[in-house]
Amino acid sequence: DNPILTPDRQPDDADAALRPRTLAEFVGQAAAKDNLRVFIESAKSRGEAMDHTLFFGPPGLGKTTLAQIVARELGVGFRATSGPVIAKSGDLAALLTNLEQGDVLFIDEIHRLNPVVEEVLYPAMEDRALDLIIGEGPSARSVRIDLQPFTLIGATTRQGLLTTPLRDRFGIPVRLNFYTVPELERVVTRGASLLGIGIDEDGAREIARRSRGTPRVAGRLLRRVRDFAHVGKAKAITQGVADDALTRLEVDSLGLDAQDRRYLSMIADIYRGGPVGVETLAAGLSEPRDTIEDVIEPYLIQLGLVARTARGRCLNDGGWKHLGLAPPAGGQG
Ligand code: ADP
Repeated sequence: DNPILTPDRQPDDADAALRPRTLAEFVGQAAAKDNLRVFIESAKSRGEAMDHTLFFGPPGLGKTTLAQIVARELGVGFRATSGPVIAKSGDLAALLTNLEQGDVLFIDEIHRLNPVVEEVLYPAMEDRALDLIIGEGPSARSVRIDLQPFTLIGATTRQGLLTTPLRDRFGIPVRLNFYTVPELERVVTRGASLLGIGIDEDGAREIARRSRGTPRVAGRLLRRVRDFAHVGKAKAITQGVADDALTRLEVDSLGLDAQDRRYLSMIADIYRGGPVGVETLAAGLSEPRDTIEDVIEPYLIQLGLVARTARGRCLNDGGWKHLGLAPPAGGQG
């Protein structure tokens, strides 16, 4: 498999180097930024902690980056953790009691919190208090500890993965969408100048077009293309250099990789275009269902190649066309 297009974070990603530091530097997501600006201003003028905020959307779109920016613009401290890392309620209690007034606590993959830990979060979010059980058996008693006012920023790939009580406790839900090509072009150009890479407009557009709507992928492709340009002794990344490198990396004209094409081919070849259930596809592709739903499908659906229906996944005309195949006669199914 070709991990170059995975929107999930990889160990050698230069995420930190490329991270915008202010809302003004953060490319795209106009609606989200406009709203956040209002909430940040209002919290600052009232001298209170901002409301708890939930960022949701596919990986690599800037949830962690935005959370850091919000803390910086609020002028408060930032602590980051992730759902699966908080094993026990005590771990969460330690994090919460260490927060200073107004701080941002960022919990990535918040849908993967252990349910027992999640229960501790409810009163913390609602009443800024911790209910701890001390002791065991008949002598056990509950003590309430007040917390400093703080802002929880949760991130998740899909809003629907959260339990209702958790979702209801976020005052500000913010959806992040895939980026347009012109937006990604700005991400690429900005990244090139930060990394000291020469690139022209057409070169930046070529990388942008093939970045799966995702800034993290754009940053990664930029660095891979730079390597090819370097070895080929090109002075700058032109469209030709970018196209060459990306083709060799097996990133196709729409920015799909081998994994995407395997997914499309399976629906086409084995299920005659669908509908086919996600579990069946997961088994056939030997991928976890989450990877299919959070990583592979959102972009293919956005491109209109695939549709999610009540009966399962179906290949659209665009999907057949991209595979160079004709849909079966007599319709699908
Ligand atoms: P997520 O938390 O949604 O998985 P990150 O916030 O870690 O995504 O962002 C992944 C990478 O993409 C980082 O290197 C970040 O700098 C870059 N990035 C994300 N959003 C933007 C943006 N709007 N403008 C520029 N770079 C961005």
